[in-house]
Amino acid sequence: MSEPRLEYRVRFPQPQTHRYRVTLALDGLAPGEHRIEMAVWTPGSYLVREFSRHVHGLRAADGDGRPVACDKVSKNAWRFLAPDSGAARIEYEVYANEPTVQTSHLDASHAYWNGAGMFFALDGRTDLPVDVVVETPPGWRVSTALETVEEGEGWVRLRAPDHDALLDSPVEVGTHRVYRFEALGRPHELALYGHGNEDPERLVADLARIVETAGAMFGGLPYDRYVFIVHLLDGRGGGLEHAASTTCDVGRFDFRPEGRYLSLLTLFSHEYFHLWNVKRIHPAALGPFDYGRENYTTLLWAMEGVTDYYAQLLLVRAGLWSVRKYAQMLASDIREYEARPGRRVQSAAEASFDTWIKFYRPDEDSPNRTISYYTKGMLIGLCLDLEIRRRTGGGRGLDDVLRRMYERYGRRGTGFPEGAYRQAAEEVAGGSLEAFWRRYVEGTEDLDPGEFLAHAGLLLRRRVARSDRDGDPANRPPGAGREEEPGAEGAPRPLLGMVPEERSGRLYVRHVLAETPAEEAGVNAYDEVIAVGGFRVEDADGLRARIHDHRPGEVVRLTLARRGELVAVDVPLSEAPPDRYEIDVRADVGEEERAVYRAWLGQDLPEPGSLRAEPASPRRPFAASIV
Ligand SMILES: [Zn+2]
Repeated sequence: MSEPRLEYRVRFPQPQTHRYRVTLALDGLAPGEHRIEMAVWTPGSYLVREFSRHVHGLRAADGDGRPVACDKVSKNAWRFLAPDSGAARIEYEVYANEPTVQTSHLDASHAYWNGAGMFFALDGRTDLPVDVVVETPPGWRVSTALETVEEGEGWVRLRAPDHDALLDSPVEVGTHRVYRFEALGRPHELALYGHGNEDPERLVADLARIVETAGAMFGGLPYDRYVFIVHLLDGRGGGLEHAASTTCDVGRFDFRPEGRYLSLLTLFSHEYFHLWNVKRIHPAALGPFDYGRENYTTLLWAMEGVTDYYAQLLLVRAGLWSVRKYAQMLASDIREYEARPGRRVQSAAEASFDTWIKFYRPDEDSPNRTISYYTKGMLIGLCLDLEIRRRTGGGRGLDDVLRRMYERYGRRGTGFPEGAYRQAAEEVAGGSLEAFWRRYVEGTEDLDPGEFLAHAGLLLRRRVARSDRDGDPANRPPGAGREEEPGAEGAPRPLLGMVPEERSGRLYVRHVLAETPAEEAGVNAYDEVIAVGGFRVEDADGLRARIHDHRPGEVVRLTLARRGELVAVDVPLSEAPPDRYEIDVRADVGEEERAVYRAWLGQDLPEPGSLRAEPASPRRPFAASIV
């Protein structure tokens, strides 16, 4: 029996209308009923997005263009009867005006699509190869991980070996710049769309370092060619991982100043590292995928958080980040984790499982009841790594766990059972990690990274920074210390317990934090903040300044507008938690700690004081936004 053949043709004669015209030509159909179905989500982004809501005007015809009955049978599926010839044409339009990595975008400047929102699976047959013919406007080129098998004037024929590869290979079409480079003997491409303050030569050199460093960890590269699609946009950044490519949306002016660029590099190293961790090493729930519904796993902390951990670690190992920079970012992430009341409610395993309805659908209560499996998972990765290194005298670490998982499952392309991750970690550690898992992965006990950083001779310091209220530093008596001096404590700061938000020139309460004065006194999310102590406040800085005029224990009257009605709430201020997190080198370090540090970061432990730095501007600025 012959297999059906699928060929898509993608056209966009009027790109400014954001409408793709797609034709799916089917040949060799067996007699009888057939079904086409579109994905409701895209792997790597765990939210049901209902891509088919952008599909319009779908109709079917036979090979000669005569209409064939085609019924819509669910939100994302259609059914039709095969014509006698075994050939059918399905035509439809996809509206694409959402410039994110998970969706599709089309305008006069370029065409970008994520296959999940463009293409159908036929009869659930994800094993069939698929051709995609892209009709290109004059001067436009195509960048994708899919193989180009043929091209002519104004068209390119791409081939996906199967449905998964079709959906896993985003396509960029336009006048974008293409930079080719080789790393570890494999060709790589940077497809750069948009303009800003970018430095493509430097980016290419840094991407090559990331490729070499990650490739060295796994003993080579598991692809023939890799494509970085990078969009320079003005919105929020983000990336999506694929087996042989990634799409990264970045701020067009994120390439300067230096600190901003160095932080940007974590996006590329994160998405790139995913080609092992989640694209190849993944729980059984994450491949083969069920594209029609939620796919559940308790291990997103290991897929996303551990990838975040390596995103930074790789930059240190590649020499792109100093250890000082790393210590600064780590301290900032630890503060972020400790600022969320939800860490005592939701475990990393639960956060992973419920991502579909919680992490991807945050609301005003989220900080109180949920954690980020990125931040917590990153800290679990760090602590697990240091714990294994302590137990093995630095000899083995998380690298070995991932290599083991890759050899055992990833290389063979099979998903692993949920328990296999801990099992591999225990094999490498040479003993039980039951307590670690129970407390920090499945439980909500406070994970103190300082306890684990000590294994590598480091010290985590939390304190309240000196404020203006402590007086002019120049006017302090000698010996009172400067801001940067380790251990220099400021006066206690007051805490209200809410996160403000400025919107349309007004100031609102975005979050009320659990077990804080604001919650107990009855401040509500969505309240508009009018005044503090009878004085008008205009913005978040003004609110902060008025609150910081008080001391913990004092009562302030907030004037709020709630659904149009003025409300006065008296709030007795409490004491704010430490806001200055720092990692330093311990003074009393033994040979064991030095060995762990060396094995972990690939260099010698520096002198005490050498890692201290100004606080980084946080990647996730929740902690700093609390008043
Ligand atoms: Zn990720």
